[in-house]
Amino acid sequence: MEKSAVLRKVEKGERLDVRDGVALFSEDLLTLGRLAELRKNAWHDSKVATFVVDRNISYTNVCTVRCRFCAFYRSPRSPEGYVLSWDEISEKIQALVDGGGTQVLLQGGVNPALSISFYTDLFRRIKSAFPVHIHSLSAPEIDGIARLEKTTVEVVLQALVEAGLDSLPGGGAEILVDRVRNIISPGKIGSDRWLEIHEKAHRLGISTTATMMYGSAHIPPATGMDYLKTLAISRIMLDNIPNIQGGWLTEGEKLGQVSLFFGANDMGGVISEDKVLEPTRIVCTLTPSLMADLIRRAGKTPVQRNTRYERIKTFS
Ligand code: SF4
Repeated sequence: MEKSAVLRKVEKGERLDVRDGVALFSEDLLTLGRLAELRKNAWHDSKVATFVVDRNISYTNVCTVRCRFCAFYRSPRSPEGYVLSWDEISEKIQALVDGGGTQVLLQGGVNPALSISFYTDLFRRIKSAFPVHIHSLSAPEIDGIARLEKTTVEVVLQALVEAGLDSLPGGGAEILVDRVRNIISPGKIGSDRWLEIHEKAHRLGISTTATMMYGSAHIPPATGMDYLKTLAISRIMLDNIPNIQGGWLTEGEKLGQVSLFFGANDMGGVISEDKVLEPTRIVCTLTPSLMADLIRRAGKTPVQRNTRYERIKTFS
């Protein structure tokens, strides 16, 4: 299909197919930004950008998956392997709650020593002690628990929800193309299994998010231009996904601000810690007021939301 026909489809709000998406990569960046904003503004107030006050807690670094891009994991026999204690986890959540935070993202390696009762006990304790939303455990961890317990994903998810799990994050998706997954994370679950776990979660009424890691097959590495193009085309293509986050964590705060003009309506979380990225020396934390300032200086009104994207505080 010629390019101008694709642009007309976007302007009319029509759904695009994969060929249309490939054609969009030949468009210039500012045209893509304009179209992405058109799509975004059909869902959202263009003057507002949201964010969540959250905390990543890497409860264990022991992992058997051994992704090639990961500097965080340790093998089960490593003396540097750890599992956080309740005291360590509760101290981190207390700090989150004291700072007005609402979301806990517990994510670790696929640790074969942790049975399902480790997670159900932990979630019950968290829910009885703190008013937080548990947005935790990626699909590879759910798969790991199901395999360890020799049971189904449904049984695992049901038990976790009964213990307090509120929603599943989209980690472990990287890019859902097995050709690339086989290079960067050959030990991880494949695209079909990731999709199956999220589909089963949806059938049980569990909301999920999805992450996309791109550019790992690029030579040379992806640039800011690649990031903005990928973001804008994602917003244009993914017309059934209302909320798209700007990637300040990996792209930097300045590009994070620019993302709000290329299809992102949300800046994600302030994070508080990210043990997976820390070894790469990427700056991983913002305070709520710094996040609000970044958004304000991009010309938008900063609004703190909860995990369900309900607004809880507007920053003046
Ligand atoms: S990215 Fe996650 S699954 Fe992969 S090795 Fe690191 S901790 Fe394990």
